[in-house]
Amino acid sequence: MLIEKVYFAIDMSQSIVLFGPPGAGKGTQADAIVEATGKPQVSTGDMLRAALAAGTTLGLEAKKYMEAGELVPDDIIIGLIEERMQQDDASEGVLFDGFPRTIPQAEALAEIAEVSLVISIEVPDDAIVGRIVGRRMDPDTGDIYHVTFKPAPAEIAARLIQRKDDNEEAVRTRLTAYHNQTSPLAKWYEEKGLLATVNGNQAMADVGAEISAVLN
Ligand code: ADP
Ligand code: ADP
Repeated sequence: MLIEKVYFAIDMSQSIVLFGPPGAGKGTQADAIVEATGKPQVSTGDMLRAALAAGTTLGLEAKKYMEAGELVPDDIIIGLIEERMQQDDASEGVLFDGFPRTIPQAEALAEIAEVSLVISIEVPDDAIVGRIVGRRMDPDTGDIYHVTFKPAPAEIAARLIQRKDDNEEAVRTRLTAYHNQTSPLAKWYEEKGLLATVNGNQAMADVGAEISAVLN
C-alpha cells in the first residue's frame, strides 16, 4: 500500500487559514500556532465584537447578523480585512481565524494576501452544540473556557461572560450557514493543494499535536 505524505511548504511571508465550523476549536488552538509561526491572529469574529463594543457604525451594522447567527455581508468583512492587512505586523503574513467563510471572501483574500496553508479542524455537528452552549470567555484576557471541557480557575470564574450568540438557536443557524456557505471552501482549497485536515473531535492537546505535526 502506498502511504502518501503531503508536505506543506510554510513560507514565512505567507498567511495561514484556520478553518472549521463554529466551536471547532479554532480560537483554542490559535495561540499555539501564533507562538510557533510568529504570525499575528486575525479573527474576524473578534474584530466584529470589538467594533460592536466600541459602538462603531460597522459594529452596529454587523450586530443583527451576529446575534441571529447569520454571516455578516461579504463587503463588510472584506473591508475589515483589507484595512487590517495594511498594518505593519501583517507584512509577513497572518493567521486567519474564522475568515474566509464564503467563496467570494476567499476570492477577495487571494487578491490581498498569499495563503500557503489551510488547517481544517473537523468536528461533527453533534459535538458542536454542547461546545458552543458551554463556552465562556474571560473578557479581560480573551481566554476561552468551557463549563465542562475546560473549567476556568476559581478566582476568575465570577468575571466570565457568555457570548450572546452562544445559545442553541443561534448555533443551529450558524451550523446551517457553515454547511451552506462555508464548508464548500474546503474543497476549493483542497483543489489548490492547500488543505490539511485535523481531527478536532478529540482532547484539545491531541488536536494541538496534530496541528503542530502539520506545521512541522
Ligand atoms: P471556535 O473558535 O472554532 O469557534 P473555540 O476555540 O472557541 O472554537 O472552542 C469552542 C468551545 O469548545 C470552547 O468552550 C472551548 O473551550 C471548547 N473546546 C475547544 N476545543 C475542544 C476540544 N478539543 N474538546 C472539547 N472542547 C473543546
Ligand atoms: P464562531 O467561531 O463561534 O462561529 P466567530 O467569533 O468566528 O464565531 O464569529 C461570530 C459571528 O461573527 C459569526 O456568527 C458571524 O455572524 C460573524 N462573522 C465572523 N467572521 C465572519 C466572516 N468571515 N464572514 C461573515 N460573518 C462573520
